[in-house]
Amino acid sequence: MKYLFMESKRPKVAVFDFTDCEGCELQFANKEETLVDFLKAIDIVNFREVMSEKSDEYDIAFIEGSISRADEIERLLTIRQKAKFLIALGSCACFGGVNRMKNKFPMSDVNKEVYGETPKETLPVRSIKELVHVDFEIPGCPVSKAEVERIVQHIIWEVPYQFPVYPVCFECKQRFTICRFELGELCLGPVSAGGCDAPCPAGGTPCWGCRGICAAPNFQEFFNLAKERGFSKEEVIERMDFFGGFRSVTGSK
Ligand code: SF4
Ligand code: SF4
Ligand code: SF4
Repeated sequence: MKYLFMESKRPKVAVFDFTDCEGCELQFANKEETLVDFLKAIDIVNFREVMSEKSDEYDIAFIEGSISRADEIERLLTIRQKAKFLIALGSCACFGGVNRMKNKFPMSDVNKEVYGETPKETLPVRSIKELVHVDFEIPGCPVSKAEVERIVQHIIWEVPYQFPVYPVCFECKQRFTICRFELGELCLGPVSAGGCDAPCPAGGTPCWGCRGICAAPNFQEFFNLAKERGFSKEEVIERMDFFGGFRSVTGSK
């Protein structure tokens, strides 16, 4: 493919899933208006959700999901050895995601509650970077396909990508959305990383912080604001623990 008379590289891409809902990898097949161009820019060689061919020769491995079983650790280590560039895709891969809530309980209780009399092997949930070196992280539950496209373009043209440094509130205000705090709801937008275009407040629900912490958060002010609006510290911390991206603040496992 040529752009400005320059030949771009067409990297071989593999997409792998672990403990997750497969929503992030599904984003790869979404956004039909640019899908053909996206598929021309990369050479997908291994992607269980959309194709039956499988190759172990790839440049970039996208890893979706968190790790919660011993066999997943082995598979992840093998992928890391083969990939030149490894990208954690989505909040499960970056932080542990919603799965991480299980770490609040003893694994034996989790097993009893979920599997009853037929217990399964289950480990405390870990993000990808807790086990192997990660070259790049794309947070979101699910990831934004537009952002994935932008990042892939930067990788192909070897131009560093800069995530937005502003919080979700910035994009929320750009959309003229009524603030969820004004509607009596708790919203993590003031301390959450922007870049998603604030779809949740615009769609009628507060931000739950799926992209993790923004670049320069003011947590003291945020906790003051939440208290002023009638929310306890426990409520705020419970919300922050939903996707696992605020553990440096909440101290959760
Ligand atoms: S980050 Fe969200 S959408 Fe992506 S795999 Fe995890 S639960 Fe699914
Ligand atoms: S709704 Fe949330 S993201 Fe939007 S301005 Fe209010 S606090 Fe910020
Ligand atoms: S508004 Fe918040 S919860 Fe919604 S996509 Fe953006 S960061 Fe995630």
